[in-house]
Amino acid sequence: MSNKPVKSARRGLMVVLSSPSGAGKTTLTRKLLAENPDMAMSVSATTRGARPGEADGQDYYFISKDRFAHMVDEDEFLEHAKVFDNFYGTPRAPVEAALSEGRDIVFDIDWQGAQQLTQAAGDDLVKIFILPPSMSELEARLKSRAQDSDAVIAKRMSKSEAEISHWAEYDYVIVNEDIEMAMEELRTIVAAERLARRRQPWLGGFVKRLTSGG
Ligand code: 5GP
Repeated sequence: MSNKPVKSARRGLMVVLSSPSGAGKTTLTRKLLAENPDMAMSVSATTRGARPGEADGQDYYFISKDRFAHMVDEDEFLEHAKVFDNFYGTPRAPVEAALSEGRDIVFDIDWQGAQQLTQAAGDDLVKIFILPPSMSELEARLKSRAQDSDAVIAKRMSKSEAEISHWAEYDYVIVNEDIEMAMEELRTIVAAERLARRRQPWLGGFVKRLTSGG
């Protein structure tokens, strides 16, 4: 019997997480990355200013509108969209590099980005929507974050319903009532999706050898 491992490389997952602001998506994303050191995070480019505590190149690439327009012209984004009053886009090159290394990659993007990626990347995508337990809880979480002014919070709340209206376009929905439970659900989704038959192209050859007595 050979000592070679039976399982070989699977296709990387493109895990898309969308939610209204304040539903806990950033916390869940950070925990998922901390538990999976091989997973990559897609760092978006945005024309909005950095919030306190945000670092350029880590949370976002903070760029000018001119630079953003240039990147659009050069087809450097896998997808891009206007969210609130700012532009956001997913740089193409790091995603392609991560996937070609067989790494999973996580995207924190809105419903518009998820729709565009569905067209560009179909089978590799796992789309997950995070819902708050209630709208009052969502507002409380936005306020406790204290990063945005009251006017910005009011605007984000009014946009939340629009974002939530796209929930049914996602493969999975997590209601984030309790962060540990939500995290357990997220882990379960990722574990199951990694085992999907189409993500394990080595299986065909394996079963052939298995049934031919190899
Ligand atoms: P925030 O300004 O609060 O960081 O993000 C606002 C919204 O923009 C969030 O819903 C976030 O998921 C979305 N977003 C961030 N980066 C991208 C991106 O590259 N593409 C798209 N389509 N949405 C993004």
